[in-house]
Amino acid sequence: MKPVQKVVIAGGGTAGWMAAAFIKKVLGHAVAVELVESDAIGIVGVGEATIPPIQLFNQYLRLDEKALLRETHATIKLAIKFDNWRRPGDSYYHTFGAPGAALGFCSFQHYWLAAKAAGLTQSLWDFDLNYLCCEAGKFNIIKTPNPLYELPYAYHFDATLYGQFLRRLAEAAGVVRTEGVISDVVRHGISGDIETLVLQDGRQVHGDLFIDCSGLRSLLARQTLGVPFESYAHYLPADRAWAVPSERFASTLPYTRSIAHKVGWQWRIPLTHRNGNGLVYSSAYLSDDEAASMLLANLDSTALAEPRLIKFETGRLRQQWSHNVIAVGLASGFLEPLESTSIHLIQSALVRLLKVFPQHGIAPAARDYYNADSQLEFETIRDFIILHYHANERDDSPFWRDMQALQLPTRLADKLALFRQTGQLFNDAGDIFRDSSWLQVLLGQGIWPTTYHPAALATSGTELLATLARLLQAKQQPLTQMLSHDAFLQRYCQQAAS
Ligand SMILES: Cc1cc2nc3c(=O)[nH]c(=O)nc-3n(C[C@H](O)[C@H](O)[C@H](O)COP(=O)(O)OP(=O)(O)OC[C@H]3O[C@@H](n4cnc5c(N)ncnc54)[C@H](O)[C@@H]3O)c2cc1C
Repeated sequence: MKPVQKVVIAGGGTAGWMAAAFIKKVLGHAVAVELVESDAIGIVGVGEATIPPIQLFNQYLRLDEKALLRETHATIKLAIKFDNWRRPGDSYYHTFGAPGAALGFCSFQHYWLAAKAAGLTQSLWDFDLNYLCCEAGKFNIIKTPNPLYELPYAYHFDATLYGQFLRRLAEAAGVVRTEGVISDVVRHGISGDIETLVLQDGRQVHGDLFIDCSGLRSLLARQTLGVPFESYAHYLPADRAWAVPSERFASTLPYTRSIAHKVGWQWRIPLTHRNGNGLVYSSAYLSDDEAASMLLANLDSTALAEPRLIKFETGRLRQQWSHNVIAVGLASGFLEPLESTSIHLIQSALVRLLKVFPQHGIAPAARDYYNADSQLEFETIRDFIILHYHANERDDSPFWRDMQALQLPTRLADKLALFRQTGQLFNDAGDIFRDSSWLQVLLGQGIWPTTYHPAALATSGTELLATLARLLQAKQQPLTQMLSHDAFLQRYCQQAAS
């Protein structure tokens, strides 16, 4: 039970600097923090779309949102628009909002389904303010206790600039940055714990607890400690991405686009100075050259650089915490970027670690809790991503047909069966995606329930339709006072720090 007086972070990408800033902020009075990174190796340089909980992380660090948006060329993200996923030509949104409202005993979808049966023509999304703002290209920050008008949002930002933003904050708070390539690692002869990182020029960095943020290399956890990797490739076969920036559009959309192609899918992320684009695909179905051509042929603005190839394997380390090493970020595993969850996984790993921080020595029970909890989180996100691929009606390539034929993980298969039979969704432990997220993707991918909850029929069809008509009006009401997304960004970012 060796006490922890010094934390060493290996790697200075988004994961490394998030870890440095957060640990210093929470425990800077109790532990020293040193980060080692190599400019020669560099960072992965992608990871531009986020999900709303990042606001909590930034708020905890007391980041000024306006400065953050300005300095990282950020835009607002209200949703992901999925094109061609169910079948070519089809589109739906997965928004961060919750369609509808709490109307009674059961969830909104049951009332909406009952109203559909009574003649309602509106889609589920018509009752969602996030969707209405996406379609209108509008945004404003709404601070209201009224759940009807909640407008949850996240950011698209330049990943490199976000890391630098955090680096300035962390260094100002006292984090020591050491530049150099880690070429050797010294372990304790008996416990096997890591004691020292040795740099190429012979300098040594000692520590008590090591955070492996070395990216896909997983230098400490996988390479040094030999922690086994559990591959998810049999569920999620994408293993490569081409990434390329392109010129920005005259007006900036407040959502990410995910466009399915014959094999894999393309992302388009709007920033204020450029668009980020990429094609995620499986090398078993598409060659690298074909994939690069597919991406370039489908860009809708001029490319600003040559495309860059990134190879990865979907899966996770079986133990995210092994010995005195906690793997965070790409070093801990990777779920492809379809739902922009990797930066969130960094955030939740750090929160989880700090909850059981081993100040007085590593307690095996704390490590076990940490590992079990992170496994659950990885698996529920994995299942959500599988749903998008599996529930497709495309018949234009072996890739999509193979995805339809997937043998699903049991938890996901059970969830789908329940929804199909009853229209019910229950939030699984560890699942960061709420029912409203599952609902939108299920319906968007064409999975409809055969029935709905009888409580939705407590009022007559006419009364229900009248209620939903009032709700529709209420949901549209804030739009009238909103700025265009670009006007919002311009006005907000010019304001002084709050
Ligand atoms: C194609 C793709 C798209 C993605 N899109 C998204 C997205 O939209 N949203 C999202 O949330 N996430 C996304 N991600 C994930 C996201 O990019 C990462 O989670 C995030 O960038 C964190 O990366 P990292 O810090 O773990 O690794 P990296 O950025 O690779 O950093 C690794 C660090 O380790 C250092 N290092 C490595 N080896 C050594 C050594 N021997 N000595 C010294 N230093 C060393 C490097 O110099 C670097 O500083 C995407 C990932 C990929 C592959």
